[in-house]
Amino acid sequence: MTSLLDVKNLSMHFPIRGGLLKRQVGSVFAVNDISFQLEEGETFGVVGESGCGKSTLGRTIVRIYKPTSGEILFRGQNIAHLDKKALKNFRREIQMVFQDPYASLNPRKPIFEILEEPFLLHGLGSAAERRAKVGELMQLVGLRTTDMNKFPHEFSGGQRQRIGIARALALRPSLIVCDEAVSALDVSIQAQIINLLIDLQKQFKLTYIFISHDLNVVRYISDRVAVMYLGRLMELAESSTIYARPAHPYTRALMASAPKPDPRRTQKPAVLEGDVPSPSRPPTGCPFHTRCPHAVAICKEQLPPLLPLGSNTKHLVACHLAQELNKEAPLS
Ligand code: SF4
Repeated sequence: MTSLLDVKNLSMHFPIRGGLLKRQVGSVFAVNDISFQLEEGETFGVVGESGCGKSTLGRTIVRIYKPTSGEILFRGQNIAHLDKKALKNFRREIQMVFQDPYASLNPRKPIFEILEEPFLLHGLGSAAERRAKVGELMQLVGLRTTDMNKFPHEFSGGQRQRIGIARALALRPSLIVCDEAVSALDVSIQAQIINLLIDLQKQFKLTYIFISHDLNVVRYISDRVAVMYLGRLMELAESSTIYARPAHPYTRALMASAPKPDPRRTQKPAVLEGDVPSPSRPPTGCPFHTRCPHAVAICKEQLPPLLPLGSNTKHLVACHLAQELNKEAPLS
C-alpha cells in the first residue's frame, strides 16, 4: 500500500553569503537526510528545541522551500522538485497552519476575502457559491457567519487561529502541516483549538504533521512522534512508547527538562545543559555528542544511523549506545 507521504533522505540547506560579491561562504544545514512515512488519517508529531529544523522540515514538505536534495512522495508522486505551475494542483492537497495567525492573515482584508481567496486562486465557484463556501467554512471552525465582514484585528487570538484553520481547510486538503499552531495561545484556548483539529480530522480524514516545542501538546494529539536535533531525526516511535520509555539521550533530556502539565507536581531540574551548536557548523559524528552525558570516542567520529531498538521495528533511535543504554528497560 502506498503511504500518503513518503519523505526520503530530505535535506534543506540555506546558503550563507558574504563579501562584496555575495559569494556563498557556507551553509545552514537546517534539515539533513530525513526519512519517514505517513499513513492517511495519522497525526505525526515533530518536537525539538528551537532551531532544530522542525519548522524548516514542515515548510519544505509543503514546498514553501525547494529542497536541496531528497524526495517528497505524495501519493507516490515526487513533489520535491515540481515547478510553480505543477505545484498549484498539489497545493490543494497539502496546506499549512502557522503559529501566528495575525501575521499570516492580511490585516487589510475582511475575513470573507481571506477565506474566498483559495477559491479565487483556483477558479472555483460563482460569487454566490464562494460566499456559501466561506459561510460553511466559518461554521465548521466555530465562527459566526455574521462576522464575515470583520477584519482580523476584531477577533481574539483563538478566533484568528480558527480563521487560519478555515483557510487551510478551504480546498479540502488531505494533509495539514501545523507549525506551532497553538503555541501563541493561552492554555485553555490551546485545548479548544486542539480539540477542533481532532474533530476536523475525524470528519475529513485529515492527516496532520504537528510541529511543536511543547511536548505535552504533541503527546495529546500525536499517534507517532519524531524528535529532531540539529536538523536530524534522533528518535521516532509511537507516542505511547516514546513518552513512556524515551530511548535516545536527547529525548530523555528534553522530556526531563519539559514543564510538567500539573503544576502541583515537583518540577525536575533542567538537565539539558549547554547550547545547541550552530547549524552552520554542526559537530562531526553524532550531532548531540557535545551535550551528551554518555558520549564515547565513536560518537565524535561517526554519525549514528536511525535503527530499530531491539525487536521493535516501530521504535527507531539514532544513537551508537541505544541498545546498551536501554538494556535495563527493554521495550516490548
Ligand atoms: Fe550520546 Fe553517543 Fe548516543 Fe550521540 S551516539 S546520543 S553522543 S551516546
